[in-house]
Amino acid sequence: MKMFESVIDQIKKFKKIAVVTGAGISQESGIPTFRGKGGLWRNYDAMKLATIDAFYDNPKLVWEWYNERRKNIFQAQPNLGHKAITELEKYAEVTILTQNIDGLHQKSGSSKVLELHGSIVKIKCSVCDYKEEILTEIFELPPHCKCGNIFRPDVVWFGESLPQDVWQNAILFSSQCDLMIIVGTSLVVSPANTLPIYAKQNNAILIEINPESTEMSEGMDVVIRNTSAEVLPKLVSLFKN
Ligand code: NAD
Repeated sequence: MKMFESVIDQIKKFKKIAVVTGAGISQESGIPTFRGKGGLWRNYDAMKLATIDAFYDNPKLVWEWYNERRKNIFQAQPNLGHKAITELEKYAEVTILTQNIDGLHQKSGSSKVLELHGSIVKIKCSVCDYKEEILTEIFELPPHCKCGNIFRPDVVWFGESLPQDVWQNAILFSSQCDLMIIVGTSLVVSPANTLPIYAKQNNAILIEINPESTEMSEGMDVVIRNTSAEVLPKLVSLFKN
C-alpha cells in the first residue's frame, strides 16, 4: 500500500511511459478476449484456431472466424481506457506496445503504437511477399493472391515469431521508460510478456491494471484490480492536477 501511495503521489514525475496492452483493454469495446468467456467460437478453442496448423488444416474455417472478428472489430469503438491513454500524450512521451490486432488505439488517436502481433485489417499472401489492406469483409473464402496461393490475416499466430523491427523497438522503449503501465493482458504470451522485465532493468515502476491476477502480478510495484475503462481515466486525471 505504501508503494501505491508514493507512486500515485509522484505520478507527474514520469516522463517516458510505455503502455503494454492486451485483449482485456478492448473487452469493454465488445471484443472478446481469448481466455475467459469469449474464448470459444462455434465450440472451437480460439487458442487452437489462431495457429498456422489450424490454417493449413482448414483455411476456410479460420477465415470464417477472422471474417466474423473483422466485422465486430470494424464496428467497435475505442472505450474510455483507450481514450485515457491517448490523453496521456499531453503529459508525457507515451509508447503503446500492444498485443492487440484491432487498431483501436490508433482509432482513438494515439500516435505511437507498436503492433507486436500485426493487424487484423491487413492481409498477406501465405507464400509470396504480397500484402494489402482489405477493409470489406466480402470475399470468397479463402481469398487467393495473384500468385495462386491463399491469403492469410497479417497477424502473428501462436508459435510464430514477431516482426523483428517492431520487436526490437519494443525492447528499446521498454528499456528506456520510467513507468510501464500493463493493462488487460494475462502475460502468458511470449515474448510480449518479457517487456516488463526490460522495464524493471531500467528501474521503471510497473503498474498493472487487470481485474484478475496474472503470472507476473507479484513482480508489479502497483496492482489495480479493476477494469481498464474504470481505472485509466482516473489514473490519467492525476497527471492533470
Ligand atoms: P488474454 O486473453 O490472454 O488475457 C486477457 C486479460 O485481460 C486477462 O488477464 C483478463 O483478466 C484481462 N481483462 C479482461 N477484461 C478486462 C478489462 N475490462 N480491463 C482490464 N483487463 C481485463 O489476452 P492477451 O494477454 O492479450 O493475449 C492473448 C492473445 O490474443 C494476444 O496475442 C492478442 O493478440 C490476441 N487477441 C487480441 C484481441 C484484440 O485485438 N482485441 C482479442 C483477443 C485476442
